[in-house]
Amino acid sequence: MQAVQYTDHGGREVVTYGDAPDPTVGRNEALVDVRAGALNHLDVWTRRGLPGLDLELPHVPGSDAAGVVREVGADVSRVDPGDRVAVSAGVNCGSCEFCRRGEPTLCVDYRVLGEHTTGVHSELAAVPADALVSVPDGVDWETAAAAPLVFQTAWRLLVTRGEIRPDDSVLVLGASGGVGHAAVQIADHVGCTVFATASTDEKRAAAERLGADRAIDYTDSEFDTRIRELTDRRGVDVVVDHVGEETWRQSLRSLAKGGRLLTCGATSGPTPETNVNRIFGNQLTVVGSTMATYGETEAALERVWDGTFTVEKRATLPMSETARGHELLESREGFGKVVVVPDSEYDE
Ligand SMILES: [Zn+2]
Repeated sequence: MQAVQYTDHGGREVVTYGDAPDPTVGRNEALVDVRAGALNHLDVWTRRGLPGLDLELPHVPGSDAAGVVREVGADVSRVDPGDRVAVSAGVNCGSCEFCRRGEPTLCVDYRVLGEHTTGVHSELAAVPADALVSVPDGVDWETAAAAPLVFQTAWRLLVTRGEIRPDDSVLVLGASGGVGHAAVQIADHVGCTVFATASTDEKRAAAERLGADRAIDYTDSEFDTRIRELTDRRGVDVVVDHVGEETWRQSLRSLAKGGRLLTCGATSGPTPETNVNRIFGNQLTVVGSTMATYGETEAALERVWDGTFTVEKRATLPMSETARGHELLESREGFGKVVVVPDSEYDE
């Protein structure tokens, strides 16, 4: 089969597309005929190499994909050949203290497909059957592939961990990113007043179309100053920050007393300076979240499948041009998700 592979950790030049061995299907796995995949910032981090991450190279990346089940392992009963499925990339052990407590995303052996194990950006992918979500007829492959990771992440972050309520004001940073554009829609769906930051007129218009009440340009002034102006100096109840180093200080300064800072990523780097006085003085809460339970994933995706939420795509590329997709993410060019399709799909 053909697969995207990282020949090494490093720059975009390590991303290749070519022959790779067909996957073997474990007893609890299903073999998926991949029709589309989608990129996440995680793919960029995995490509560059993460501390403590020890991958066998070459590595097949990719955490998001959708396609048709071709074959199932001996112990699989929840999916059958011919089923339309999407991949929900988090896999837990089922037996550790946290799994037994019903907190799979806290699993001591939590693995994300494509990050800790072989990913799904290939013509065929062997995926634990538990990690497959049903995709209704009528949902296109690009949407099915692009939705799972960012919508599940944003859903757990805002709804479960952040406990957003209709009377909350919510500021979403980086509204043009995958998680950002999902967070804007979820906060709007709950009934919150939504502020969003984006760097261009076009991106701000898109954020407002998706449900932001007010989109803010962070390039010409500090966004916390704008938030203070727009909220009569009060600040917002919730900030959604997946940017990290570049924005953390301003995020804390944007919060009203008693506010919550929700974090699920750090695309600009993980070690910002923190003013601790502001956290205890204003009684702020910093809430971390990662991935989601299968129940949370299905709650979010149901609302994608029925059209409540829209998955914006900045580009759809053949998998052989995955490096270009990384460039779009790294340069923050465009709005929404980058979809990658096996080159062979274009021949059919
Ligand atoms: Zn576990």
